[in-house]
Amino acid sequence: MQGDFAEHIRHLEAVGAQASEVRTVAQLDACDGLIIPGGESTTIARLLLAFNLMDPLRERIRSGLPVWGTCAGAIMLARDVPALDRPPIGVMDITVDRNAFGRQIDSFEADLTVRGIDDGPLHAVFIRAPVIRNLGPSVEVLAQLEDGRVVACREGALLATSFHPELTTDSRFHRLFVELVRARARGVGEREATA
Ligand code: GLN
Repeated sequence: MQGDFAEHIRHLEAVGAQASEVRTVAQLDACDGLIIPGGESTTIARLLLAFNLMDPLRERIRSGLPVWGTCAGAIMLARDVPALDRPPIGVMDITVDRNAFGRQIDSFEADLTVRGIDDGPLHAVFIRAPVIRNLGPSVEVLAQLEDGRVVACREGALLATSFHPELTTDSRFHRLFVELVRARARGVGEREATA
């Protein structure tokens, strides 16, 4: 719909996945997994409604489509977003606070230890980033800032990150997602998929 999809496509191709843009129900139906990129969540929410994608997307996600939301994409996945003028997709049992670190000028970078990603910390870029809180019992924390605030989590086949792995040259997070999508497509159980 909007945001840094081109950067995500580059990373997906770098880890050997076939990637394409999704703006129609037919394109959505053709996917085994979906990334909702960083951008502007108010715009993405409006466009999902305008393109009649909101309900089909909710249905696909409820029937198991793996989805990863980065920043604005994470906002779209949350069940509860206090400061969004339209309903989000609302499929993850989390609350996401938009612009939790302040304005564009308060953007920052940090090295994070991420559960499921080996070989050292991941350099994370935060741009008017949200924070994840109120995690439901089925949501697993994947990464936290030093002060304990949650910036990455997983619930079943859904991943949410406050930061933008697509804006770095490190494809490890994309590899993690592609492995999850492949495992789901093969019908492998959740536990095995993360092993
Ligand atoms: N602040 C934006 C929003 O609320 C998200 C910013 C981003 O995706 N980098 O939608």
